[in-house]
Amino acid sequence: MIQEPLIFAAISDVAGKLRGKAFPAAELERRLARGVGWTPTNVQITCFDVIAESPYGSFGDLLMVPDAECEVRVDFEDGTPPEHFFLSHVLELDGAPWECCTRSILAQALTELERVAGVSLVAAFEHEFQLPDAERPDGDAYTVAGYSDQAAFLSALMAALGKGGLGPECVMKEYGVDQYEVTVRPAPAMAAADASAVVRELTRATARRCGQRATFTPILDPAGVGNGLHIHLSLVDGEGRPVSYDAAGTGGMSSIMASFVAGVLRDLEALVAFTAPSVISYARLTPHRWSAAFNNLGLQDREAAIRICPVTTMGGGDSAAQYNVEYRAADAAASPHLALAAIVHAGIRGIEDKLPGVTPVTEDLSLLAADELAARGFRKLPGTLTAALRALADNAGLAHAFPGQFVDIYQLHKAAEIAHVAELDEAALYAAYAGVY
Ligand code: GLU
Ligand code: MG
Repeated sequence: MIQEPLIFAAISDVAGKLRGKAFPAAELERRLARGVGWTPTNVQITCFDVIAESPYGSFGDLLMVPDAECEVRVDFEDGTPPEHFFLSHVLELDGAPWECCTRSILAQALTELERVAGVSLVAAFEHEFQLPDAERPDGDAYTVAGYSDQAAFLSALMAALGKGGLGPECVMKEYGVDQYEVTVRPAPAMAAADASAVVRELTRATARRCGQRATFTPILDPAGVGNGLHIHLSLVDGEGRPVSYDAAGTGGMSSIMASFVAGVLRDLEALVAFTAPSVISYARLTPHRWSAAFNNLGLQDREAAIRICPVTTMGGGDSAAQYNVEYRAADAAASPHLALAAIVHAGIRGIEDKLPGVTPVTEDLSLLAADELAARGFRKLPGTLTAALRALADNAGLAHAFPGQFVDIYQLHKAAEIAHVAELDEAALYAAYAGVY
C-alpha cells in the first residue's frame, strides 16, 4: 500500500496521555519553526474523552511546536510504520508559553528551583504495568518463567527504548498478576519526565506489535497490588555535582535535600491530586500494597511515601553520587510533567521555609492508633481523589506556584472525570481505567 512517512507532534497532556496530530515528515522544518494548530479546550479532554467545563469554550488558538531535542523514532523492522513523534510545547500564537502546557509548567518549576536554591533536579521514573491478556498463572513473581514467557516483547521493548533515546536499565516480571516493570536511567528532570511519557507510549506500541495489550492503570484489581510509578529524585549543583548527601545529616541528607523532602511531605495531601490523579488511585494508596499510605519518610521502606534508597560502597561506589529518594505516591494516570512540577514546587517551598529534616521511620505506621499517629505528626493520605483535590484547593501556597488559571482548570478537569465514573459499579470502574491507561 502507498505510504506517506508521517511525524506525530505530541503534547504530554493533563490526563497523562500523549495527544496531538501527525504531519508529512517532509514538512518537519516548517513545523519545527511554526508548529501545528491546537485548541485550548483540548486541555479539558479527560482520560475518558469527555470534555470537562472549560473557561476557553470554543474560542482561541494555540500552537503545538515540536521540540527539536525531543524526537523519538523507532522502526520495529516488522513492516509497520515507525513510531515517530516529537514531544512538543504548547505556545500562544506569539510564542509565549501557554498556561496549561505541562512541559512549560515543569520548565518554570525547574527554573524556579535553580533561582531559589542554585540546584537542579535529576530524576528517574520506574514504571509497573500489566499485560492482562498474558494470563500467567500464579507463582510467577520475579520468575524466569514469567520473564521468558514475554521475552520477545520485553527484548523488543528494551530495543525500542534504546532507539527512542532512553537509557534502558532493567525489566522484570513484577510481583502482581501479569505485572511487569521497566526502568530507565536517571536524567535531568525534564528529560526524565519526557522519558516517562515515552516509556508508556513505546511500551503500548511494542505490546500492540506483539499481539498484547499493556495497561498502566493505577490498579487493575482492587484485591491485588497496584501499578506504581516511582519517581527517584536527587539534586546537583551548577556543575552537575551531587548535593543530596551528607553522611552526618538526618537520613544521610544534605540540608538542602532535607528541606526539599520536608516540603514535599508537608504538601503531600495536595500533591497526590497531581501524582495519583485517578478515582481508583486511592485504592492503591492503602497499607500493605507496597505503595504509600502516610506522609512518611522511610529508610529503605517500600511502604513509605518517600523512601531513602540504599547506597552501596561495593565496587568503590560513591555514596554522594548514588544518594536519592523515591517518591512512591504516584501512578501512571499522572502526567509525568505535572507530577514532577508539583513535587518541585513543594520542594522549593520547603527550601524557602528552611524546613528541618524529617526523621525517617522504620516501622509499620498502619499499626499505630489514630491519636498516636497524630501526636507524632503523621497523617493518612487522602482516601479519595475528591479529598485530594480539596486538599489542593486548601493549599493556596502550592496552588499559587502554578501559572495563571491552571489549577482551577485542573480542578474542573478532574471533577468531570469523577462525575463520568460516579455511577459505575466496582468492576466497571476498574475496567474503565484499565481500558484508557
Ligand atoms: N506495586 C507497588 C506499587 O504499587 C510497588 C512494588 C515495588 O516496590 O516495586 O507501588
Ligand atoms: Mg516494582
